[in-house]
Amino acid sequence: MTFESLGLHASVVKALTDAGYTKPTSVQEQAIPAALQGRDLMVSSQTGSGKTAAFMLPALHKFASAEQPADAAAGKTSNQERQAARARGDRPRFQPAQPKMLVLTPTRELALQVTTATEKYGSHMKRVKAVSILGGMPYPKQMQLLSKNPEILVATPGRLIDHMESGKIDFSQLQILVLDEADRMLDMGFIEDIEKIVDATPATRQTMLFSATLDGTVGRMAQQITNNPVVIKIAGSATKHENITQKVHFVDDLSHKNRLLDHLLRDVTMDQAVVFTATKRDADTIADRLNIAGFSAAALHGDMHQGARNRTLDSLRRGQVRVLVATDVAARGIDVPAITHVFNYDLPKFPEDYVHRIGRTGRAGRNGVAVSLVNHAEGMNVKRIERFTKQLIPVDVVEGFEPKKTASASRSPSKPGGWKPGDNRSGAKPGQRTFSNPNAAPRSANGGGYKGRNGDSGGARRSYGDR
Ligand code: ADP
Ligand code: MG
Repeated sequence: MTFESLGLHASVVKALTDAGYTKPTSVQEQAIPAALQGRDLMVSSQTGSGKTAAFMLPALHKFASAEQPADAAAGKTSNQERQAARARGDRPRFQPAQPKMLVLTPTRELALQVTTATEKYGSHMKRVKAVSILGGMPYPKQMQLLSKNPEILVATPGRLIDHMESGKIDFSQLQILVLDEADRMLDMGFIEDIEKIVDATPATRQTMLFSATLDGTVGRMAQQITNNPVVIKIAGSATKHENITQKVHFVDDLSHKNRLLDHLLRDVTMDQAVVFTATKRDADTIADRLNIAGFSAAALHGDMHQGARNRTLDSLRRGQVRVLVATDVAARGIDVPAITHVFNYDLPKFPEDYVHRIGRTGRAGRNGVAVSLVNHAEGMNVKRIERFTKQLIPVDVVEGFEPKKTASASRSPSKPGGWKPGDNRSGAKPGQRTFSNPNAAPRSANGGGYKGRNGDSGGARRSYGDR
């Protein structure tokens, strides 16, 4: 299967060749033909599987095919009119932007990634502009971006609503609506904003929804906003990560944990790493400590200003930061190919977060290593993760860093094939809330749940909601 055989426009195929993509990933293989036919999509597939291209390539194809001379001229006229009006010294009456495509993402970082990917995939097209509308970006800058009337808008829901309400954006020309990481947007309490945005778009739009899961609230929302959708579920979705070597190291106490982390960070096969902590304060403390120990480390969390977060991410991409110490929400969606290792300094509260965390490594088919540093008392949490991912995580011991208690005292050693999906090793009672039985106590009654999810909780909506 090639991108050409999927029927994509030559200018798009050319950009993919430039990007070094040789063949479509499975989600792209299934989603692109359906999207090209104009169908609505509901897609679940794991992180790193290439979902951005799955929705952006068909959209770019559509815009490239519409780049007929007549159309281009029409576009020019309207822009020329704008310029002429400016030249006449007309009072800069603001004309609302009329995007043809809107991509909603849960975080600013993800929005920027989608915009960057769009620039890459659209590099051979004449006039397709994609801009991000994000909280934390200075207002005049956003006005300037919107005044260029971009075809593609990539936005976090909160800030978009602000612009909609002040008449800066008009969705009457919208053809394509994408919800990227829809489950995350619901987790973050964006459901009402999403409904409001969807209501402002034409019913004739094409809608594509991407999510780690299509169960529960997100599945219901997907059904509501799509029209006779093609449902694509990539097997092992959200869980498998076969290219990532996962390990558990048991530790006796904090000092043991810190010494072991320092040792593991000196691994010569390590290029860059993300260390996950439960709280923002821990992220700062550990980044400071690692810097003192001689690692180029930096913290990333939701209390930091957007400027500082961007600078940190840039330094990470440029390789100046080798070890990023981050909280779950702040690191969501980071796509830096040189991240070879992920360390769970603290285990995540929810098994889904484990999957998101380890997905920061092993990007684009590369190999990765994910190491969890676990207190003896946390054996149960490891089991929960294993049950969720349907994979056993082997226990590893480094010579000189052996825990005083043996691993088998904390947890029986992994036997291949020793666990089958459906086993209930946690001994959870029926109705007890576990991740194999999440409906026992709905996590979020109104879509605004996950309070106290991790150190970033206190008003996740405010800190990450991009208001
Ligand atoms: P997802 O949204 O599913 O997590 P992304 O769209 O962010 O995945 O893609 C993950 C990585 O894979 C990116 O670095 C992207 O450039 C790369 N990628 C996507 N599609 C392909 C492909 N067909 N061939 C090679 N690399 C790809
Ligand atoms: Mg994505």
